[in-house]
Amino acid sequence: MTLGNSPTVHYDAIVIGAGHNGLTCACYLAKAGLKVLVLEDYNSIGGMTITEEITLPGFKSDIHAFGYSLATLSPVPNELNLKSHGFELIRPEISISHLFPNNHGYISMYKSLEKTLESIRKYSERDAASWKKIFEEYLSNKDSIVSMLNSPPANPLQDTESASTENNDRKEALEIIGDTYRLHTLSMRSWCNENFESDEVKAMFGSFAPFVGLSPDDAGGGELCYLFSSIMQDGGNNVVRGGFVNLPIALANYLQSKGGQIITSSRVKKIIIENGRAIGVELANGRVIGAKRLIASSTDPSTLILQLIGEEYVDSHLARGIKRMEWGDAIFGIYLALNGTLEYISGQEILSRSPQVHLSPPGLEFFSKIYYECRNGKPPLNPLSIMSNDSMIDPTRVVSNENDINKHHLIKFLVLNVPYKIKNADSEIGTENEWENFKDRYSDQIIETINQSYIPNLNTSILKKTIYSPVDYEKKPINSIKGTLASGAILPYQSGWMRPIPQLGNYKIPSISNVYLCGSGSHPGPGVSMAPGRNAAQVILRDLGIDLRNIFTIS
Ligand SMILES: Cc1cc2nc3c(=O)[nH]c(=O)nc-3n(C[C@H](O)[C@H](O)[C@H](O)COP(=O)(O)OP(=O)(O)OC[C@H]3O[C@@H](n4cnc5c(N)ncnc54)[C@H](O)[C@@H]3O)c2cc1C
Repeated sequence: MTLGNSPTVHYDAIVIGAGHNGLTCACYLAKAGLKVLVLEDYNSIGGMTITEEITLPGFKSDIHAFGYSLATLSPVPNELNLKSHGFELIRPEISISHLFPNNHGYISMYKSLEKTLESIRKYSERDAASWKKIFEEYLSNKDSIVSMLNSPPANPLQDTESASTENNDRKEALEIIGDTYRLHTLSMRSWCNENFESDEVKAMFGSFAPFVGLSPDDAGGGELCYLFSSIMQDGGNNVVRGGFVNLPIALANYLQSKGGQIITSSRVKKIIIENGRAIGVELANGRVIGAKRLIASSTDPSTLILQLIGEEYVDSHLARGIKRMEWGDAIFGIYLALNGTLEYISGQEILSRSPQVHLSPPGLEFFSKIYYECRNGKPPLNPLSIMSNDSMIDPTRVVSNENDINKHHLIKFLVLNVPYKIKNADSEIGTENEWENFKDRYSDQIIETINQSYIPNLNTSILKKTIYSPVDYEKKPINSIKGTLASGAILPYQSGWMRPIPQLGNYKIPSISNVYLCGSGSHPGPGVSMAPGRNAAQVILRDLGIDLRNIFTIS
């Protein structure tokens, strides 16, 4: 297909997907003077940062992301002055709490390191000292972590020579490489056992690995615990006032102020390629739109390569790499509109002010069990529930009727380790992929466990419940492949310069000169960080001969 005789409008750049990464990438391209169009399949912008009234009218749930933590390391809000586009954060005094059953109490992470240490000291003096040391080490490495996240990853194959000429002390360099490699591949269990003695403290810090689907023994879980917990201790677990969707809305406002356009309800079916270059896209409705300079896609990498581009345009090794990508474990969500304030078995005053509360028994055996069940096709009967306290932190999330404001609340429970396909059928669990039939029963079971062991008035407080199984997540947005959140599991061989696969590790496709990846399938991966979008923009602008640092001097 050619666009030669088409009356179509031609843009300089088309960005596929209006999630926060696609929008971020589009903003930088528009700032650099390109005429940009963003095309989104869903009926609104935001992707996995949408906020919708899915329980009752006036109750605004963040369907996916709720905690704004990784993004505290992003330069994007300042560079784009998102505040002036309606973006506002709430920084709660507490970032997370971990509540244990059977009078084991709770641990909270506070804005104040000293208060966090006090909370840990209830269980172990030694562990408090250990956390202080880990966090101070993080602060001393913070600049390089920020730079690592917000730059296209260095390719070690290309950088070996300069690294060794710049660093004369080979022994020291090797030690640093060894330590970095060790942390990068260390499991959550090893990291917790190395640093902490108390079962409660291990569970509290260990529960950050399941955030992105890593079991106690998966390589890389230790690094994620270290990073997530340090980032939250440092920058907090913030909440976007009014709903997470106000981040993509602020990005969209910025984009439109630079002349960019967004069209929703427009699924891209094909990228049109001629002579090794993309020249436009064809939408599912048959419309064709031209792109003069480039296309950037924030869809998951497999959809981009195998569907939008087509296997015939890439080499067989690359196609094989994409086909064997791993997606990770799936997600299950329960959204609850509440009539009344929740009562916790302990720590009422603190837990009701925590944006996020993790619910599990102490120790790591529990985590082993839930992953054993999940990876054998069985939704864990007693899972790790991650609760977000939407309206306690941001009262604007519920109807603002004066009579109701103190009694109506909105929360969410996420279980981040369920199988996409249910196997091991027994009398309690349905047969393969029967989420539609099973999801009500499963959510009742989870709520009952929480009611019995953690929040005794949960059951009686529920006004309305909405459930999302992995199959529901997969439809909204369509990027949630197999009901997962990461656009490709976080594994050492799908991370850094190897994300999503080594051939695509620098946001580019070798055989097509002007198509780029700009979503969380690329470095640094999932989570709201704005980094894949901004990093891709850096690569694109560099290819166009523009230095990102200079575009903020362009009027
Ligand atoms: C349940 C859940 C909870 C989470 N909680 C948190 C949290 O608390 N904190 C946090 O930091 N992160 C969280 N995350 C992760 C985070 O939300 C995502 O990693 C991030 O939002 C992904 O952003 P993205 O822009 O890369 O992709 P997406 O947001 O998925 O955007 C991609 C967009 O592309 C569109 N698209 C796909 N194909 C096409 C096509 N062919 N044509 C047009 N458009 C297309 C999709 O509809 C989508 O809007 C959570 C994720 C989930 C699922």
